[in-house]
Amino acid sequence: MMQKTLVLTGGSSGIGLAIAAKFEASGFHVFNLDIQPGAHGTFIECDVTDHDSVCNVVANIAHNHTIDVLICNAGKHMSANIESTSEADLLALFNLNVKGAFSATQSVLPSMKARGAGVILYIASEQALVAKTNSFAYNLSKHALASMAKTTALDYAKFNIRANALCPGTIETPLYHNAINRYCEQSGADKAAVHADEAASQPLGRIGQPEEVAAMAYFLASDEASFVTGSLQVMDGGYTAG
Ligand code: NAD
Repeated sequence: MMQKTLVLTGGSSGIGLAIAAKFEASGFHVFNLDIQPGAHGTFIECDVTDHDSVCNVVANIAHNHTIDVLICNAGKHMSANIESTSEADLLALFNLNVKGAFSATQSVLPSMKARGAGVILYIASEQALVAKTNSFAYNLSKHALASMAKTTALDYAKFNIRANALCPGTIETPLYHNAINRYCEQSGADKAAVHADEAASQPLGRIGQPEEVAAMAYFLASDEASFVTGSLQVMDGGYTAG
């Protein structure tokens, strides 16, 4: 059987790293578009906020490979309410979390359409469904990704291209640790206590692991999920159920 190809953004750390490892172990050729090298797949230095760079990289991959799956994962977190969000911070966050996914999606569609098959997955967040305090721009960006999944699913269903948003709750990654470190520096709170509170606020009593997100991503990309499109797949230990 021909080796399948995954184009993944932000595959060098956290959730992306676990996705790259899972797909690589399952026989995929993984292209990891990131700004720092990662341990799995073929690393291609690419800042996804640079539209032309994303287009060129994806066109080069599509020239030699059939792109079966695109996973838009690169993103960053920001803690601020609307008043404390500068215009520059808002634009920078949108450039990465939203426009990066737009550029990658736009670049893979021509080859997926020509082939009449493809899967696109956006790593959104539970914040695509619910609000959290001090999370104005991040929340907005994750709602935008949910929208991108739905509109892309509708517009490209006729080409047999599926698009979904995976919405993880709190997952233990460098992004998570940096976020609570910043919070503790600002508030003077104790890190172990914040970590324990965070775990206790999840109905399952713990935060999630990147490998759990990777397992769901692999399922959604597989033919096992062949009737799943335009959906927001929540995996949050029950957080949004309450
Ligand atoms: P992370 O910080 O561990 O990893 C992010 C990766 O993106 C890094 O490899 C980084 O180098 C890369 N990246 C950053 N800027 C980039 C750019 N301009 N171009 C290309 N790559 C770039 O973060 P994570 O926790 O693994 O988060 C991954 C995604 O999952 C993000 O979109 C995040 O919003 C989302 N998410 C995370 C959590 C969580 O609790 N960790 C929960 C829900 C959703």
